[in-house]
Amino acid sequence: MQIEEFFQKFEGYSLTYDDLIFLPDYVDFAPESINLKTKITREIEINTPFASSPMDTVTEVELAIATALQGGLGLIHYNMSPEEQWKQIRRVKGFKSGFGSDPLTLSPNSRIWDVVAVRNEYGFTSIPITSDGKSHGQLVGMITKYDYSTLTDEDLDKTIAERMIPADRLTIATFGELSINGTLDINKANASLVDSRSPALPIIDSKGCLKYFITRSDLEKYISCPHATSDQSKRLLVGAAVETWFEKAEERLAAIHNDVDVIVYDTSQGFTSYELDLVKWTKQHYPDLQVIGGNVVTADACEALIEAGVDGLRIGMGSGSICTTQEVGGVGRGQATAVYECSKVCLSHGVPIIADGGIRKSADIIKALCLGANAVMLGSLLACTNEAPGKTHIKDGVKVKEYRGMGSMPAMERGSSFRYGIERSALRVPEGVTGMVSSRGSIAEWIPCIMQGVRQGLHKLGMKGIDDIHRKVAQNQIKIERRSEGAKREGDIHGLYAVHTEEMFTQTVAENRQPQLLYN
Ligand code: 5GP
Repeated sequence: MQIEEFFQKFEGYSLTYDDLIFLPDYVDFAPESINLKTKITREIEINTPFASSPMDTVTEVELAIATALQGGLGLIHYNMSPEEQWKQIRRVKGFKSGFGSDPLTLSPNSRIWDVVAVRNEYGFTSIPITSDGKSHGQLVGMITKYDYSTLTDEDLDKTIAERMIPADRLTIATFGELSINGTLDINKANASLVDSRSPALPIIDSKGCLKYFITRSDLEKYISCPHATSDQSKRLLVGAAVETWFEKAEERLAAIHNDVDVIVYDTSQGFTSYELDLVKWTKQHYPDLQVIGGNVVTADACEALIEAGVDGLRIGMGSGSICTTQEVGGVGRGQATAVYECSKVCLSHGVPIIADGGIRKSADIIKALCLGANAVMLGSLLACTNEAPGKTHIKDGVKVKEYRGMGSMPAMERGSSFRYGIERSALRVPEGVTGMVSSRGSIAEWIPCIMQGVRQGLHKLGMKGIDDIHRKVAQNQIKIERRSEGAKREGDIHGLYAVHTEEMFTQTVAENRQPQLLYN
């Protein structure tokens, strides 16, 4: 059945991804030629159709960098002060082809334990040393892990001056030799780093002051990620969540607006006078800032937020894996119905939508895209990676990571009660749980696997890319059917004595279907 007739027939039903199956179509191209580029707001294009959820066990600086390197968009959560969020944004923007334009520095009088503290907090193992310890001070040396990693505890109190490599023994490049018309030539600078055989290359100005600091590990990460999403200056893209509370939003935006690429007003119910007013106010005060609104699940809400001026919308209520909104409040919508009904409005206005919540496997991403979404937002599928901030534990012999809803009690105590509009309530009922997900290793391996699954599915559907899908959605050319319970069982692995899951990517992804949740 054609997609529009299908949803008319099921009007009044809340359907979700598992309820649907898409029919294959004629194919005359290879899966490798499928283009996953998409718009995530009116102005921002990304290379892989996913955003990381702004949750405090999902997106902080490390995951935001790793997500952008994979072509997605990282959205840093707001359970932190505006200053801290701004610092994290600056660190993502500072990761430019492995470049630090605002490098973290120490002074020769600092101690070795300061170096260890920097390594533990930021993961940097080579640090440039300037005379006054400031980012653009006079370069006097560099300390690398070889200079301190084998020291004993007693040595940690030594000064950096005693262990660093002094500037006269370092390979150093000058800005003059590496720049063209006053702008650093990134390719030349990278080539110098490679030639230097050093773990890092300081670049100084004509007065000997530090201007840039390039590290080999960042460069290697960047080279292995040709699909990274970046701005015109080749800096990674990054977004941040903001509260839908005027005073909070005003303060946060003042701190971050100069550096962030996009903000998302982060609330579980975005169809409110507060959000509509805030979007209008933001567009008046920061006309160049891209604004994602939400969360919404109805056409009326999309119309209202589009009229207020949003550049993108986040669709989903109650579908997240850690979410209890539908159980607590009896409100929300099946994600497939929500995405399709909202996409009809948004596609006609040219406003991209992000299908947020309930994505457990590559098939869900394909279904969201074929229902008109431009991208998906991932919570549990990223909380399980090394780069996510959640703590790692071993449970029953399995490596697991903490994952919690922003509406769970511990998260709300850190600030996210604004998301649920209950920041002033004396009594709060959580709309989310705390739990754990099986650990999946690095995003650098996990996302390419998931996206290859997406490519393979789109290939069978005869879809050459996201623009192609949206054209077919708009022209009602997509064929879809409702899955019976028997068809669901048939579509899953069945009738086998044993399944060697470790060899099968589909199972690896599918395993996330039943995350082990520990209710609080
Ligand atoms: P997941 O990808 O894990 O299925 O869902 C993540 C999404 O769930 C988030 O992007 C956000 O929209 C939503 N979410 C996060 N925390 C909570 C919560 O505590 N309660 C509710 N209702 N939704 C949540």
